[in-house]
Amino acid sequence: MSKYIDQVLEDVRRKNAGQTEFIQAVEEVLTTLAPVIDVHPEYQENAILERLVEPERIIMFSVPWIDDKGIIRVNRGYRVQFNSAIGPYKGGLRFDPSVNLSVLKFLGFEQIFKNSLTTLPLGGGKGGSDFNPKQCPHTPGRRCSNHEVMRFCQSFMTELQRHVGQNTDVPAGDINVGAREIGYLFGQYKRIMNNWSGVLTGKAVSFGGSLIRPEATGFGCVYFAENMLARVKQDFQGKRCVVSGSGNVASYAAKKLMSLGAKVLTLSDRSGAIYAADGLTPEAWLAINRLKEVERGELADIAATLQGVKFFPKANVWQIADKVDCAFPCSRQNELDAPDAEYLLKHGCKLVAEGANMPSTPSAVDIFVKSAILYAPGKAANAGGVATSGLEMSQNSERMYWTAETVDSKLREIMAAIHDNAYSAAEQYGHKGNYVMGANIAGFIKVADAMVAQGV
Ligand code: NAP
Repeated sequence: MSKYIDQVLEDVRRKNAGQTEFIQAVEEVLTTLAPVIDVHPEYQENAILERLVEPERIIMFSVPWIDDKGIIRVNRGYRVQFNSAIGPYKGGLRFDPSVNLSVLKFLGFEQIFKNSLTTLPLGGGKGGSDFNPKQCPHTPGRRCSNHEVMRFCQSFMTELQRHVGQNTDVPAGDINVGAREIGYLFGQYKRIMNNWSGVLTGKAVSFGGSLIRPEATGFGCVYFAENMLARVKQDFQGKRCVVSGSGNVASYAAKKLMSLGAKVLTLSDRSGAIYAADGLTPEAWLAINRLKEVERGELADIAATLQGVKFFPKANVWQIADKVDCAFPCSRQNELDAPDAEYLLKHGCKLVAEGANMPSTPSAVDIFVKSAILYAPGKAANAGGVATSGLEMSQNSERMYWTAETVDSKLREIMAAIHDNAYSAAEQYGHKGNYVMGANIAGFIKVADAMVAQGV
């Protein structure tokens, strides 16, 4: 690795001590950039790496709100505006007790490269809160009511509105932030600003959302994997696929896989994992989708009612099936570790496409890369969500709605372009077939060149 990269990494570790997820994400990207840095001295001359690892702005604020018992609660809100070299900051909001600055900086950093790969003019950002909509603060085992979520979102946006805007920063959803939360956030923004603008994406279609946006991350991940398979003259027909999670990304990845003839063997959530040895049926998929999107329940609540399905309480999905062709981690960061990677390879897995952000630990990534299976890192494979958010921004700017077919075909084109760009960047820099190198390099060069062109 180049001395320059070593030095920047050392500074990142020293300046961000304790921010393990952020350091992990920076190490993952910077350690793949040596071939580019070697032939582009202008990046070091312009201190591009030092500038890239420092967020342009971090906003941290208090979010006071009143629960259904009339008790005042206070959460912490954040927006990390990481890099705006190629467009307005863009990235989701996550509401989860695990949210802290390290997690949001890792996500914001990843977002820079992902957004660059989409081919659209989007900068990188991320935000959220340690608010937990799945556990209300006054009654153990009860979720927050809709009114509690609404009051929280209104308070969150009361501060956030100062820092966002359709040409400045355009947040979207992420874990625990779906159509309901985006609706409440958007309503509060509009009320305060007296102005309708596309300041958030992931809106309902009735007020400016895009068709296919809910499906886009999961569908896009499968399209990316389809491109990898097509390169080796294969398709999804009959492939046995292990999917983790059962939220937005997992659900639509599973749906697309089933429609392409694959068998979806597993899904999971915080309550455990389900395993369907012969593949989930469309009826089971519908029941689970309704459970998660409408009833906001747990897999444990319905597993026993699903035919041909076994439930493993508190388990993850990786070491259940005896024969696996493909794996789709679609739940959360660091959910797939080295023993899981080894198990998957031993049981036949030839393709891993990450729907989640950084779901494989560094040692699991190492195993996948060394084994030379088809391995697509999240920043490339899950870019379909933010790409379709970009398409939602375009539709809002033109005051138009595109049909589902139009959006889906643009999404397919974008995922094919991301695949091809990552594949050829890896080849050009001497690492043919290594999508980790390819995605990092292709995403980096565009942002680095923009930063050089714009001066310090
Ligand atoms: P989501 O709808 O909230 O679903 C998250 C899923 O992961 C749920 O099934 C959840 O279980 C499970 N999960 C979360 N934390 C867990 C834990 N500690 N243990 C076990 N299971 C856990 O979120 P999402 O939007 O699908 O996002 C999933 C991943 O994709 C995240 O890494 C996100 O950053 C990434 N991503 C999302 C998008 C997007 O457009 N939404 C785009 C790009 C990347 P419960 O239902 O029990 O909570």
